[in-house]
Amino acid sequence: MIITKQKAVDDIIRALKGAKSTFIFGCGDCATLCRTGGTKEIGEMTEILNQNGISVTGSSVPKATCHELDVQRLLRAHKEQVARAESVLVLACGAGIQAVGDSITKPVVSGCDSLFIGNSRRQMQFSEKCSVCGECVLNENAGLCPETRCPKGMQNGPCGGAVRGRCEVDSSLPCVWIEIYERMRAFGRLDEMRRVRGPKNRKVAARPHRMGNWPSVRGDDGNV
Ligand code: SF4
Ligand code: SF4
Repeated sequence: MIITKQKAVDDIIRALKGAKSTFIFGCGDCATLCRTGGTKEIGEMTEILNQNGISVTGSSVPKATCHELDVQRLLRAHKEQVARAESVLVLACGAGIQAVGDSITKPVVSGCDSLFIGNSRRQMQFSEKCSVCGECVLNENAGLCPETRCPKGMQNGPCGGAVRGRCEVDSSLPCVWIEIYERMRAFGRLDEMRRVRGPKNRKVAARPHRMGNWPSVRGDDGNV
């Protein structure tokens, strides 16, 4: 999921640029799980905005705000409330905010900062395990991602700085290369670690990514 944090209230009010009314979109998926844009957070934001003289004409929580056709459907369903608002505030990730912004001519204000793609272990505990590099090396590393889980992004083994199995950059983390070594040993694949890998193809991570044709997801036509 996309991990978000809410912007400071002062920043949101500043971004509203004097608008006296707004409609709020949240997100029923990631931002709800991050507690940045669910029904509860929209209620709290409504109260704060009211205290600051900004009225909330209505709100909506799409199932996933990055789903543009669903956002457009909800904009139609709430068209009178949206029409009465001078702006639209979105409590969701950057993709969700732009899904709304691309569907409406009113000013759209971002209420959240998008941080990373995160795995969730327990409530409100997120960790980054994939940074969408576009050329996955999990198969070569026993299912562990050095691109993301090593702060230096080492691709050919450890930097040599680990202390008692902990990363020299951030001692709260295990050195992922030691974990890779342990897993490869358990799988009887240590000999594979002798292979030197060439540089990753950073072109496949060029932005903006687009994929218009789902069968091409298999990657056999290079259409990424
Ligand atoms: S190698 Fe790339 S695609 Fe694979 S998990 Fe790591 S960042 Fe994600
Ligand atoms: S100690 Fe391990 S995880 Fe940390 S930067 Fe070096 S190789 Fe990467």
